[in-house]
Amino acid sequence: MSSPQTTFLEFLNKNNMAATEQRRIVLEVFLGTKGHHSCEELYVHVSKRDPSISPATVYRTIKLLAESGIAESLDFGDGVTRFECRHNRDHHDHLVCIRCNRRIEVMEDRIEYLQEKLASKYGFSVKRHKMVLYGICPDCRKQ
Ligand SMILES: [Zn+2]
Ligand SMILES: [Zn+2]
Repeated sequence: MSSPQTTFLEFLNKNNMAATEQRRIVLEVFLGTKGHHSCEELYVHVSKRDPSISPATVYRTIKLLAESGIAESLDFGDGVTRFECRHNRDHHDHLVCIRCNRRIEVMEDRIEYLQEKLASKYGFSVKRHKMVLYGICPDCRKQ
């Protein structure tokens, strides 16, 4: 697997976009984060590194990271799009608590297998998928 830096450079080249210093910094900051982050949260991290980078630049660069496959965009049902890094991470899906927004990362081979099987029934070869199950976590269920 090539490095995310190389992947991003190739993506920018292919789309005739410049590999600016600002885009490089947004990539580096994003790679340094763990978990799921909104553009606003990522902007806070980026601006600590370089205050001259605008929120709009961060937002557009994150979109490019998603398009190039380095970032995955996620919808946890609260109206905020979040991003997580796909590089060096095994595939996982998410359980989301609709009361406290707690997120649990899950992975179940049988579900993965059944998705492949379902898709192939329709002549599909699956490239990626997202599964989010919305519910109430154990702590919130106690209340
Ligand atoms: Zn909860
Ligand atoms: Zn996750």
